[in-house]
Amino acid sequence: MKIAVLPGDGIGTEIVAEAVKVLKALDLKLELEEAPVGGTAYDQHGHPLPEATLKLAQAADAVLFGAVGDWKYDKLERALRPEQAILGLRKHMGLFANFRPAICYEQLTHASSLKPELVAGLDILIIRELTGDIYFGQPRGRRQAPDGHFPGAEEAFDTMRYTRPEIERIAHVAFQAAQKRGKHVTSVDKANVLETFQLWKDVVTEVGQQYPDVKLDHMYVDNAAMQLVKAPKFFDVVVTGNMFGDILSDEAAMLTGSIGMLPSASLNSNRQGLYEPSHGSAPDIAGKGVANPLATILSAAMMLRFSLNQPEAAERIETAVKKVLAQGLRTPDIYSEGTTKVGTREMGEAVLKALTP
Ligand code: NAD
Repeated sequence: MKIAVLPGDGIGTEIVAEAVKVLKALDLKLELEEAPVGGTAYDQHGHPLPEATLKLAQAADAVLFGAVGDWKYDKLERALRPEQAILGLRKHMGLFANFRPAICYEQLTHASSLKPELVAGLDILIIRELTGDIYFGQPRGRRQAPDGHFPGAEEAFDTMRYTRPEIERIAHVAFQAAQKRGKHVTSVDKANVLETFQLWKDVVTEVGQQYPDVKLDHMYVDNAAMQLVKAPKFFDVVVTGNMFGDILSDEAAMLTGSIGMLPSASLNSNRQGLYEPSHGSAPDIAGKGVANPLATILSAAMMLRFSLNQPEAAERIETAVKKVLAQGLRTPDIYSEGTTKVGTREMGEAVLKALTP
């Protein structure tokens, strides 16, 4: 099992180091190889995604990714900015399915902005289509408006589009994920006004007939945004398009209160995947040894489950994380009175220790 380790910038190096320690302690035959990505890669090789890094990622079964970006690169032309590395990896690896779990750990219910009884026990999986929709649809651009309310005025336009196979493959991913969880899929669309999402709804309904053990319901995106804060425990698996998923996954993430706890995965049709925390490179706390490594450690657990077919090892890590939270250990982002404040390395060490029962 080959893993490409791409720590990236800022806190990326600190948090990935802890996840790597945990992976190495599992007694699995893992081959880990590290390469630069993002701003670090730009500094060393003049490009945020050097050829050698891309090749390593493509040849691996999975990529463990930290984070990229720093304000000092903001003046570079767009194609050379650190964030382009993620887009490049998604494109070249064909990563079309983004998994973002939003889990509210019992010990952290107070960190949510919602009432504890609304989020206690929350366990949602948002599955976002990652390669289509209005973000990539052509044509797009700026021009003089040929018609409309202000003909001749400057206008900008994008095109929302999805093909049937794109919808089918993400729907299969969602139903199969639901079979391993609460057997409930909510497909989020805007079929009442958009042709693209009428096709979405029709295709998801058709695919759903192949999964009679999974309950399927449909929800308009405006209602879904509302229900996520009104009754979030209604949801099990949510499947939606690229733009709606972008927005709803951040909303769902915040239900749990802490970005430092949230893993994510992006998969292609061979189940090869890129695993990373949902947060960025946090330049404000980089190098201080205070970043929360749990989102990255939990991303490593997702990697074991989804790409490396090692569900028991994944569960060992997840149980260890729950254990350290129960012991009251907290990095500053999740700290509250009565708990013990620890740094990045101490948190990693504690998870390592908790792996053995
Ligand atoms: P960010 O997620 O890096 O930080 C937002 C806030 O959350 C900061 O206050 C930070 O200190 C805190 N935070 C984030 N992760 C944390 C952790 N593990 N433990 C404790 N606190 C944590 O977002 P930002 O500040 O908007 O962006 C910083 C840089 O990261 C930018 O260059 C941005 O482009 C980049 N970025 C990269 C990714 C990625 O690599 N996938 C994603 C988002 C942002």
